[in-house]
Amino acid sequence: MEGKVTTYLFYTGILFSLITMILCMIVFQNNSDEQMVKTLKLYCDTAVANTENEEEISKYLPSFTDFSVIQKDKTVKAGQKNEYTDGEKLLNDKNLKSLNEKKSAGGIIKTDSFKTDLAYAIVPFSDNDYLCVYAETKTFANTANQTFPFLFVIFFAVVIVSGASAIILTDLFMKPVKKITSDDFVFNMTEDNSEIYEELIPILNVKSKAEKMKRQFTANVSHELKTPLTSISGYAQLIESGIAAGDDIVKFASVINKESQRMLYLVGDILKLSELEEENTNIIKEDADLFEISKSAIDSLEVVAKKNGISMTLLGDSTVIRGNKNLIYELIYNLCDNAIRYNKPGGSVTVETKNRAVIVSDTGIGIDKKYHNRIFERFYRVDKSRSKQTGGTGLGLSIVKHIAELHGGKITITSELGSGTQIKVSF
Ligand code: ADP
Repeated sequence: MEGKVTTYLFYTGILFSLITMILCMIVFQNNSDEQMVKTLKLYCDTAVANTENEEEISKYLPSFTDFSVIQKDKTVKAGQKNEYTDGEKLLNDKNLKSLNEKKSAGGIIKTDSFKTDLAYAIVPFSDNDYLCVYAETKTFANTANQTFPFLFVIFFAVVIVSGASAIILTDLFMKPVKKITSDDFVFNMTEDNSEIYEELIPILNVKSKAEKMKRQFTANVSHELKTPLTSISGYAQLIESGIAAGDDIVKFASVINKESQRMLYLVGDILKLSELEEENTNIIKEDADLFEISKSAIDSLEVVAKKNGISMTLLGDSTVIRGNKNLIYELIYNLCDNAIRYNKPGGSVTVETKNRAVIVSDTGIGIDKKYHNRIFERFYRVDKSRSKQTGGTGLGLSIVKHIAELHGGKITITSELGSGTQIKVSF
């Protein structure tokens, strides 16, 4: 990238300099032509003021000029006669108009010569004649040719200056980019970021948030794994040292088993989340009936519900969406699982499917309004001990949110502390 920027700047510098040089030469050429025509007009006026005799005209003109006297019928009466000083050519409509209006005319006659053209000026000489004075003037090609060595030196200087300024400017442009791509760069919104292009700040914000979330996630995973591992290791040491005996061994083994189960659930949910993140673009979608899927989720959870004294009911009817059956099953299963785990003894869970939506309601402990948004964050639990006690990983609702997003679904939660929860996912 850096090399490309330098090359573009270098070529742009050369191109602009060349254009400027050519424009300067054109302007210079035009100015000198105009100047010559003005001078010739002055000579014409001097000659006309001093004599009425065409024989004497040359006395009043300098040696580098020539003249001709052209009659109104456009024939050349005296002075030079050749193809360039032809009366028809010089007394053209434009010059006649100018002679009528301004009492003078002038211009440049292109010759076949590479080196010189003819500048001329015309003024009325008598009632029937015009006086035309000529002088050679350098052509543009000739000027360019003569100044070529000088132009070459200038061009060489332009190449060096363009090269140097391209390198300096590239360095200047790339400095903020190099800064943010360096290994030790850490973006901080609250610090002075005037050295960074403001157009890059939104990208850096997103990147820094993503990095922060990643760091938090890693820290949370480590913390979540550390707790069961500590107790597994502790109880295993007790058994190994022989301190535990008889019934204690069975008790400790049961704790070890429970904690390893928790770790397995946790690792399983982490894997599910990372799979969902990877599946972002390529999940296979088919016709999925929310009613049928809810039925199989309820069937799978029936034993757990019974164990907790919770009754489960399925309402509504068949409603088909385009989606991934396995993922939708996972979503409904997680919602029902929570509805059982955070329920009250003798409570109930109702699943209803209608109008491309699934609604899971429970008569459980409910969730305070202030936590409604937070519960979808990874590892966020309102009641930590209840979650852990019931085998929660803190990732269930994050998985639900992810799956809903993958299907363009919208989650609505209605819940108040102590009076049950209703979570609706509309597809
Ligand atoms: P967990 O594995 O802890 O259940 P989730 O992500 O599934 O994690 O849920 C996050 C938190 O939201 C839970 O810890 C719990 O405090 C709260 N929660 C989820 N569902 C319900 C519900 N139906 N009733 C009450 N609280 C709930």
